[in-house]
Amino acid sequence: MSYYEQKIPPVRDSRLQLADSYSGSACDLLDCQKEGCLMRKNRSFWQSGSCQMSLTLMMAATVQNSVIVLHSPAGCGSMLGPIGVSSNRGRVQRGLPPTPANWLATDLTETDVIGGGERKLREAIEYADREFRPEIIFVVSTCAPNIIGDDVAEVVESEKDKVSAKVVGLHCPGFKSRVVASAYDAFYHGLLRDIPFEPEPWKDYVPLDPSDPKYPMERAKENYQKSHTINLWNATSIGVADENEIERLLTALGLKVRIFAEYSSLDEYRQISQAALNVSMCNVHDDYMLKYLEEKYGMPYYIAGMPIGFTETRRWLVGIAAHFGLEAEAEKLADYEEKLAREAIEPFLPKVRGKRAIIGGGVVRAGAEAVALAEFGIDILSIKAYHYDDNAEDVYAEVAEKLPDAHVSVSTQLFEFSHQLRTLKPDFVITHNGTHGAAAKLGVPSVQLFSTEGAFFGYTGFWQILRRIVFALGNTSYQTRLAKHIKQPYRDWYWEADTFSFIKE
Ligand code: SF4
Repeated sequence: MSYYEQKIPPVRDSRLQLADSYSGSACDLLDCQKEGCLMRKNRSFWQSGSCQMSLTLMMAATVQNSVIVLHSPAGCGSMLGPIGVSSNRGRVQRGLPPTPANWLATDLTETDVIGGGERKLREAIEYADREFRPEIIFVVSTCAPNIIGDDVAEVVESEKDKVSAKVVGLHCPGFKSRVVASAYDAFYHGLLRDIPFEPEPWKDYVPLDPSDPKYPMERAKENYQKSHTINLWNATSIGVADENEIERLLTALGLKVRIFAEYSSLDEYRQISQAALNVSMCNVHDDYMLKYLEEKYGMPYYIAGMPIGFTETRRWLVGIAAHFGLEAEAEKLADYEEKLAREAIEPFLPKVRGKRAIIGGGVVRAGAEAVALAEFGIDILSIKAYHYDDNAEDVYAEVAEKLPDAHVSVSTQLFEFSHQLRTLKPDFVITHNGTHGAAAKLGVPSVQLFSTEGAFFGYTGFWQILRRIVFALGNTSYQTRLAKHIKQPYRDWYWEADTFSFIKE
């Protein structure tokens, strides 16, 4: 049975070769992946871990006119406050009406854990339908119901006939996967099983009459539009400025761009099958969905890194253009854009050349950013990826080729990050939200790896990245003074040990 026919999605741990604990070079990482030793690596000590469910919630909370029903103890929903704020801001930035993320939880108690919580879940789904009248109800299955054996998939199936909303099961218990990237598959699995991707006659279009003399012309128009339409797949970490930059470039090639699956509505989802190409902006984000669309509708897909920096943006654009026979136009566009962008970044280059950096965060973005910055003379000391899986192979093959001496680690552990900062002493770090404080306490200025408030992709994005680095390097007195007055929580023996001494085979 294919993964797509199963009620419950597979986790990446069973679908792909992956790692959450690694230290070495990009070359050895690729060898280890081929030999199958990545999953055998582990840590004898973990400071913290992440839950895939929270990332699934981030995606679901953006969907228009939807309600989230968490089948969980109350605590699993603690993230939904800030998620609701950020998804609301994302809606406003995209010109959509500001609406709160509606959610409720079944609030499983000790009694439910003993007696089962299916009845509570049915009541919650029916209440959500009556109270909010949503188009979509996302039913999120967490650790507790999966441990006690509640059949959430069966409840979702049987409730479909009882409520007017589409009921979508999102099966993402935190304990089932070692990497949060499984969350993307869980969200997409719910969509592809429970949401229609084909337009409905009369609702979405007026069927053409073959006896009408205008029929051949109308059909030709329809076919032309479909053959020049791209579905661009976004992600929670990709803000509206990046979507606009990529749309600007693809539109300049005469292509029509539609963006899925975050911030979309049920009506928009029905258009997914009506495009010539599915384009992903991140290797580890969309393969599960895009392979499904190829299998189901014969739609080709394009997954080829992130359009960060000049070389990658050109390669990415030309690769997409090749599907439409527009390679020469894409090369010309890249020449024009690069010329403008090179002039714009010129003043930044003397200030960043030769600076030593550590880059950490999402596996593809960290690798792509490192390669792009190294091209302009930044010395990449280390790349720290939050996880690694087969989908990142091409990016790390490029890292191995262009940055053979850079250290590569797979780690979400803050103590290892702090140790690296103290021992490698970079001039600056480019890092994920939530880790800037650790860098500042060690006297190291930091720059955001991504933010939904600015551009990071294409030509506009690369100019902004360099501008941020110059700004961060311009005045480091805050970090210098903070480091003098902060007492680190680590013992001396750890500072003297190898950064990754807790990684075990
Ligand atoms: S790990 Fe499990 S219990 Fe904890 S927040 Fe995630 S789903 Fe809930």
